[in-house]
Amino acid sequence: MSTKNIFPIELFQDNETPFYYYNLDLLRQTINHLKHSIEKNPEYIVHYAIKANANPVLLKIIAQAGLGADCVSGGEILAAIQAGISPAKIVYAGVGKTDKEINIGLDNDIFCFNVESIPELEVINQLALRKDVIARVALRINPEVEAHTHSHITTGKAENKFGISLSDLDRVFAIMHDMTNVSFVGLHFHIGSQILDMNDFEALCHRVNSILSHLYSQGVAIQYINVGGGLGIDYESPIEHPIPDFDKYFNTFRKHIQLQRGQTLHFELGRAIVAQCGTLISRVIFVKEGESKKFVIIDAGMTDLIRPALYDAHHHIANITSYSAEQEVYDIVGPICESSDVFGRDIKLPVTSRGDVIAIFSAGAYGESMASQYNCRPITHSIFSE
Ligand SMILES: *Cc1c(COP(=O)(O)O)cnc(C)c1O
Repeated sequence: MSTKNIFPIELFQDNETPFYYYNLDLLRQTINHLKHSIEKNPEYIVHYAIKANANPVLLKIIAQAGLGADCVSGGEILAAIQAGISPAKIVYAGVGKTDKEINIGLDNDIFCFNVESIPELEVINQLALRKDVIARVALRINPEVEAHTHSHITTGKAENKFGISLSDLDRVFAIMHDMTNVSFVGLHFHIGSQILDMNDFEALCHRVNSILSHLYSQGVAIQYINVGGGLGIDYESPIEHPIPDFDKYFNTFRKHIQLQRGQTLHFELGRAIVAQCGTLISRVIFVKEGESKKFVIIDAGMTDLIRPALYDAHHHIANITSYSAEQEVYDIVGPICESSDVFGRDIKLPVTSRGDVIAIFSAGAYGESMASQYNCRPITHSIFSE
């Protein structure tokens, strides 16, 4: 399929650039594939990771499809509830939950706090006591499983700030034993993001199984196991592979994790659900001939999509208005006063001129939700296709 067919011409004729273009049909199809993959497993529950994209239009579709929410702040809990997600399907992780945020979780009676440290557990217990409620808690355990992804997005290694270390686990259970207002319900893990090698998830399953058998041997009952998110998407070929291989992902857990009767298995997918439905649409301001390079300077910048600057992330980039048969090699850069404001280096595009429209694909996850107002720029608006 040509990229020209994907975007209706009116889209960039009528709308001021830059903007996020969300293909809601693709979002619905992606969710349908996901639900289809787990329809035979009623004990599998998916919580959408709100931080990937909290756009209310997307959230509403996700809520209507029946997914739960994985939140990492009080603001995200409120956004999830506002979109229609039941608090009974909300889990809340984060290493630095403030009292105010914990109270938001307690007041809304969310499904579960994923607790990341002993001091946090103590504060949740105190705040729940003050309100005379019982907080359901799961312990986020640092499984010390390495995900083969960018170092900024691994979270399950000993040196990361996330979770409770395995060696502290028995001590945490001893402390929790005397707490009156927390109820232990399960374990939580999350090893990282943009993971495409199923061996990493398999390694997590084996680690989870061995932690579970250790806890069973101590007489600990566990109702729910949350294996986090992290399933990656195809940033190289988004047009050919718009929907992640959910079957391969869930089959890894079916095959390798040992659940007991009555236990539920929870997933927190963010990127895999929303990344491919979003495209950042931008216009070429200037084409500049440097000493050794040609630069295409566009009106979108790292304030709209920070992933390339922050993680060296690759996004597929296309000129969707040039019909030139000739190609040139360009660096695609934004207007922000930072050298890292680069979307792609040495990118081959048809000969590109001022006014052409550039599409940056796979921008639906960690794009709009990470936008900033640096350089006094407005937050990018969004356009939706049905
Ligand atoms: C970010 C995050 C996720 C989602 O990660 P994706 O790679 O977008 O699937 C899930 N769980 C936790 C705790 C997170 O912090």
